[in-house]
Amino acid sequence: MLSTMQDDVPLTISRILRHGTTVHGDARITTWTGDAEPHRTTFRATGERAAQLAHALRDELGVRPADRVATLMWNNSAHVEAYFAIPSMAAVLHTLNLRLPPEQLVFIANHAADRVILVNGTLLPLLAPLLPQLETVEDLVVVGPGDTSVLEGCAPRVHDYEQLLAGRPTSYEWPDIDERTAAAMCYTSGTTGDPKGVVYSHRSVYLHSMQVNMADSMGLTTADTTLPVVPMFHVNAWGLPHAVFMTGVGLLLPDRFLQPGPIAEMIAAERPTHAAAVPVIWQGLLGELAATPRDISSLKTVTIGGSACPPSMMRAFEELHGVRVCHAWGMTETSPLGSLAHPPGGLSPEDEWPYRVTQGRFPAGVEARLAAPGGGFAPWDGASPGELEVRGPWIADAYFGGVDEPPLRPAEKFSPDGWLRTGDVGVISPDGYLTLTDRAKDVIKSGGEWISSVDLENALMAHEALLEAAVVAVTDERWGERPLAAVVFKEGTEPVPYERLRAFLGETIARWQLPERWVTLPSVPKTSVGKFDKKVLRGQYAAGELEVTTL
Ligand code: ADP
Repeated sequence: MLSTMQDDVPLTISRILRHGTTVHGDARITTWTGDAEPHRTTFRATGERAAQLAHALRDELGVRPADRVATLMWNNSAHVEAYFAIPSMAAVLHTLNLRLPPEQLVFIANHAADRVILVNGTLLPLLAPLLPQLETVEDLVVVGPGDTSVLEGCAPRVHDYEQLLAGRPTSYEWPDIDERTAAAMCYTSGTTGDPKGVVYSHRSVYLHSMQVNMADSMGLTTADTTLPVVPMFHVNAWGLPHAVFMTGVGLLLPDRFLQPGPIAEMIAAERPTHAAAVPVIWQGLLGELAATPRDISSLKTVTIGGSACPPSMMRAFEELHGVRVCHAWGMTETSPLGSLAHPPGGLSPEDEWPYRVTQGRFPAGVEARLAAPGGGFAPWDGASPGELEVRGPWIADAYFGGVDEPPLRPAEKFSPDGWLRTGDVGVISPDGYLTLTDRAKDVIKSGGEWISSVDLENALMAHEALLEAAVVAVTDERWGERPLAAVVFKEGTEPVPYERLRAFLGETIARWQLPERWVTLPSVPKTSVGKFDKKVLRGQYAAGELEVTTL
């Protein structure tokens, strides 16, 4: 028996756009400019400019359905215009990660066969040298001020964004498209291997946006303003630009001002109620606020994910600044919302902590299981570890194989029955809380036992003298592998002897897990999205580039 519902109404991004620009037309987008006044606009005006952009792309640049239109842009209102215009006209938005090494950027743009690139003027010096290697790019659209002289002699046609939009109609007949059509693509940041392309559908973006808005996720309302510090090229800024157009939540966008100082300033001046970023950024903000106090009391919650959030940092935000941190887990392949750590009801604030420091619970759209090391699946008993596998309507089913190539389903990433293998190792409690102990590739295998690098890092980062700490596996003749601890002391702090750090670790960590090898660094190497780059650290150790002390 079939339903009597309007099941043929497609879940498309143009529906989200239409809703946001009408019902929430007055909702605000503020972009930090570094000048006296930020740039201010509304959802309605953004929708009108998105229509103008779509006209320009189609009529002037000849963009057709399924063509890839890339962006190399910071978080700003023009990027939001591109976010809605490109998928809504049935083309595919490809957000390029401006922090990737040049050769990876070239690889990705060629692999996706990007036809057009929208680039912020301030990023031209980064893009210009790569242009001769970009095989498929026919048009460059320069957004905002920048030195275009670096483009002289370059092959693609160059357009100015404002001139391109000027005088074009402010509405567009968005085509009816199948909700399973490609809407946007994002390559993984390649922490553990080469970047791989994930292609989101209109349907997956729509459903994921609804999840972002659920009270058990970020749960924002029209009374809120959110500050996505997480870049719009890092898994669609975790879905926030789409989600806010459903709910009328205000957007505060940092553009290129991502250092702790300007972030603190924009929070004090614009008073957002929510923010989202990876832990490294918030660690920096804590230090900044200690040095130069500012009023960040408008912030009620901050969603932190992308790598394990040190519990010491969560507590510091709450105790020093009254900001509640919600820890979340996700991946490019999961759109990215995979789990969020909201504690169960009825607990005292102190009893909530053991739940809040986990990676959290899965929303109804995400099914999870743990593939046990010896085969089969581990029970949800809070103790039996396994590799996390997930499936659901906003989880990747494959990677983009290239133009006219079939999708890729490498066996190490997809199970034969179609679940995504996350590469993350952990346990799940009987009440569904996920605790990740490590990435499968980062876990330290010492004498047949596993040591969690994340546990050691979290314990170390609770030390008052340390700004950062990363732990990696290094080969050891006797044990196979042992942990190497790389520490970064806070500026102006006397280095603490390694013996003392080791004793500090010993207060919470089993003796046999304590690192013998220690090194002090000016900063831990980071990936393009601000995670500890353990691949680089392991390489530096192997090449003998680190001054290691063995206790
Ligand atoms: P890449 O895999 O290239 O780093 P992603 O941004 O997709 O790019 O990273 C996803 C990975 O980040 C997850 O598989 C997991 O290892 C890690 N991660 C994300 N959130 C958390 C978290 N809250 N705690 C621990 N690890 C996390």
